[in-house]
Amino acid sequence: MNLILISMGVLGVTALVAACLLYVVSLFFKVEEDPRIDLVQAVLPGANCGGCGFAGCRNFAEACVKAGSTDGLACPVGGDPTMDEVKKILVPAAAEEAAPAAESGDKKGFDPAVAAKIKALPTPKAAFPNLIAMAQKA
Ligand code: SF4
Repeated sequence: MNLILISMGVLGVTALVAACLLYVVSLFFKVEEDPRIDLVQAVLPGANCGGCGFAGCRNFAEACVKAGSTDGLACPVGGDPTMDEVKKILVPAAAEEAAPAAESGDKKGFDPAVAAKIKALPTPKAAFPNLIAMAQKA
């Protein structure tokens, strides 16, 4: 009986030490990702068809954010309306230009308040959860 208890104790301590180590290592090697990638991905069709020349919508979103513009990039599935949405995320000034469309009831336009919030982001990490909600609402 004692042998079983000792074995359980050793395994428990080993598991606890391993969990702590993994936590510390995960903090050390954490990769910060631009939250705009998730925003861009949210407005893409999600077909993952590769028609844009990338492996999927996520890769396309990463390429758009890395490029900082939509020049030379296109999603043939979503077409111009989708690329306009992507442009609004990448270039907040484009969102302001589209504000009159939103005010006139055009669902594809960004709400001016949303555009202002995107421009006023303190840090991308802090704004991430709210941005997703705003993008889905817009
Ligand atoms: S063409 Fe559009 S829908 Fe297809 S993978 Fe590229 S971004 Fe996604």
